[in-house]
Amino acid sequence: MSSEPPAKRARVGLDEAVEATAVTRSLPYYATKLARHGLPSELMENPQPANHAMKAIRDQHSLDFSPLLNTSSYVNVVFEEQEEEVAKMGMRVNLADQTVYTQSFDLHNRTLGMVAKLWHCPEPEDWQEHHTFAGACTVGSTEACLLSGLAHKFRWREWYLRRTPGATKSSVRAVLPNVVISTQFQAAWEKFFKYMDVEPKFVSPSLSSFKLTAAGVEAAIDERTLMVVCIMGNHYGGQYDPVWEINDVVERVNQEKGFQVGIHVDAASGGFVAPFQELPAWDFRLKNVLSISASGHKFGESCAGTGWVVFRQRRDLSEHIAISVSYLGGQGESYTLNFSRPATGVYVQFYKFLRHGRLGYQNLTDNMMATSKYIRDQMKEMKAGNGKKVFKLLDDGDTACLPVVTAMIDKEAGLPYDDIDLQHVLAMEHWYVSGYAQNFHDPVTEEKLPLFSDSPLDATMFRVVVKSNLTHAMAENLVECMKRSIDFLDAHGKGFEKIHKNQTKHKGHSAC
Ligand SMILES: *Cc1c(COP(=O)(O)O)cnc(C)c1O
Repeated sequence: MSSEPPAKRARVGLDEAVEATAVTRSLPYYATKLARHGLPSELMENPQPANHAMKAIRDQHSLDFSPLLNTSSYVNVVFEEQEEEVAKMGMRVNLADQTVYTQSFDLHNRTLGMVAKLWHCPEPEDWQEHHTFAGACTVGSTEACLLSGLAHKFRWREWYLRRTPGATKSSVRAVLPNVVISTQFQAAWEKFFKYMDVEPKFVSPSLSSFKLTAAGVEAAIDERTLMVVCIMGNHYGGQYDPVWEINDVVERVNQEKGFQVGIHVDAASGGFVAPFQELPAWDFRLKNVLSISASGHKFGESCAGTGWVVFRQRRDLSEHIAISVSYLGGQGESYTLNFSRPATGVYVQFYKFLRHGRLGYQNLTDNMMATSKYIRDQMKEMKAGNGKKVFKLLDDGDTACLPVVTAMIDKEAGLPYDDIDLQHVLAMEHWYVSGYAQNFHDPVTEEKLPLFSDSPLDATMFRVVVKSNLTHAMAENLVECMKRSIDFLDAHGKGFEKIHKNQTKHKGHSAC
């Protein structure tokens, strides 16, 4: 028999543990063994006092870049005290438990309704039956995109079965469908292609626009196309794919070829910005937009782990991914990939909607756009030691896009350093911006491919995301630090990517 006696390791008795804890408790944290030996990576024998456990985590946390100065990320960092209380309440509620936490789920449905109406979703024809829009709060846009892609995939399969003589359910399953999308896709879609077995058909935008073109989309659509993804808020440069033009193309191709290709709008960032800007219709007002997703934790101002997906209708769309759950006194549907998740995202989103109203979001959008313009205008004028202008601006300008400033060090300036060097020198000033090489990873071939149709894959660029906490005063400091970083690089040359190797080694091509 190979079973060993259960307690080979020296077991510390309860009395001994209590004593050890009592001694530890009386010590200041910095006089304890935990402070001396570093953080454990396996379960320790003895309990630690609560304030020591918290200090250990707080100290580690303090070594991160400050979230308030992280202009690389889109994730909201502004929380009011009351909101933190609300988040703590939500933490104890498992949203999957619809039968027990019916009122929390009611908040879910109300918040979902607010999102759906913000995007002009028509009231569902089966409202009397379900009393809610078709959609869900998810853990983020990634989950929302995966769900939406799946609904479109199953819708496509039924269509393909109907239109293909002699096809059977299993023969259709063997056909690899595709999605038409820009090479500027966020990594969420890489997961979709890999996990859900769907082929990407990439359309390569020009460096001068970053946007899908109607002609590019038209050439890519075929009878295996589930949907076209339009990105409302290209994460690299903040541009909006012209959904209104793509809608026309999709309409025409569908009519001419008898297809039923729909559009999914990935509005991860733009979902809560575009409704407060002057734009052509980009949402459910367009007939072929069948689903929209967004991250509540980006410009929705909720907390990390909040996403939204809304479907135009249940029929032949969200019903394909619905799992029936029984409520107290009713029948509900679950769309999410996970069952268990905290109600935090819903609670905080609902709080933010109540707290801001339309006026609040309008003002936030106006402020962020104004701050982006200030940074952009300053960058346009910045000169290197050789008297040449440093930056070529790549974003979409001051209106009708995300509050993002994207630029590259201009080749014409003939400088020996690049955008990645600038990123790292700026980080010494505690500001964090995202530097990128202009390439992406093909999920199918694993090849490194150029992001743009007309720019080499080893060129670089960087972006500054202006989030709601970035006031004008802070932006002034960022601009000063940028100028100092350029002076520093003029004096010291290149090769600064090694400085923060440790912090950046896990960074993919598309941080959120
Ligand atoms: C951020 C982002 C995502 C992924 O969002 P998560 O909420 O982090 O899952 C998907 N698409 C776009 C365009 C994004 O900007």
